[in-house]
Amino acid sequence: MPRHRSDRARVSAPAALAALSLLLTSCGGVGDAAQPEGENGVVGISMPTQSWERWVNDGANMVSDFEERGYGTDLQFAEDVVEDQLAQVENMITRGADVLVIAAVDGSALGDVLDMAADNDIPVIAYDRLIMESPNVDYYATFDNHQVGVLQGEYIVDTLDLENEDGPFNIELFGGAPDDNNSYFFNDGAMEVLQPHIDDGTLEVGSGQTSMEQIATERWDGSVAQSRMDNLLSANYSDEDIDAVLSPFDGISLGVIESLRAIGYGTEERPFPVVTGQDAEISSVRSIVAGEQTQTVFKDTRELAAQTVDMVDAVVEGEEVPVNDTESYDNGTGVVPAFLLDPVSVDADNYEEALIESGYYEESDLDE
Ligand code: BGC
Repeated sequence: MPRHRSDRARVSAPAALAALSLLLTSCGGVGDAAQPEGENGVVGISMPTQSWERWVNDGANMVSDFEERGYGTDLQFAEDVVEDQLAQVENMITRGADVLVIAAVDGSALGDVLDMAADNDIPVIAYDRLIMESPNVDYYATFDNHQVGVLQGEYIVDTLDLENEDGPFNIELFGGAPDDNNSYFFNDGAMEVLQPHIDDGTLEVGSGQTSMEQIATERWDGSVAQSRMDNLLSANYSDEDIDAVLSPFDGISLGVIESLRAIGYGTEERPFPVVTGQDAEISSVRSIVAGEQTQTVFKDTRELAAQTVDMVDAVVEGEEVPVNDTESYDNGTGVVPAFLLDPVSVDADNYEEALIESGYYEESDLDE
């Protein structure tokens, strides 16, 4: 049974950022030597990038929660460079990490370094993104990634009122990074909802590009998405407007919106299409409040950090590790037991309740 965490002090996103900057100041920057060892040992925390708030918050929330439980932490960000992440994890092992928590840049690139962890009896928790093709992944803490896609698909269906309208409505599809296992779960969830409407003709993918090979976005890069959107618009939408864009991530959504704005969308006569997203990044929440991006999926990084700390603590104490899914996440060497948290769909109608009243952001964070 999962243990309850309600008594834990929650760290808001701005507080998390403040904690991180304190950490950076106190140890001279991420990438320096390990943090002081806690009474329960040191947790190596490897995050993919600081370019997006969510990962910065994930790192800071875990540092604060682990320290509260008597663990030292060694937090590193790889800036989306696979080789740097490998070197950072290797260094964590050399410096004596007792447990590793890793959100992979490339889910299939960590095999050798995880062999090294196994040789040193270091348990590994995959964080948010499943680590693939390695038997040395003990547990997985994440959100219900399939449900993230379902929420995005349902948002499009509801907003265009596809149960009642015949359309046809024009849609384009974007996918996440092809080397991130999550991308396929998001896409499967969304297509489960959208495909019946494509099949019955109420939705039309103008470009005809529907496979992950065609729609994936390398490294989740918004500028890659923006260029692809430029091409899609000029090749397919000179006569007709586009009604919806399935975007799996806020960075991609903002790239798509810039591309649309450049050719005149975003006016009263030519409003932006429905554009989904994920992560409730501040820039996207502002965009939602401004009536540009339409929706995002909020995944509370405070909850994921707390859950991960519970799982690590149980591993270290030799107790039963809280999991709620032992079927969905096969990494190619077997199913990795997972704990899945619930994602929440957020738009202009509920952002205050979901993001401000919950203490995740302050109202002032949303000021330009
Ligand atoms: C995460 C998303 C995030 C994306 C890009 C995915 O693996 O689950 O929350 O939007 O990576 O950083």
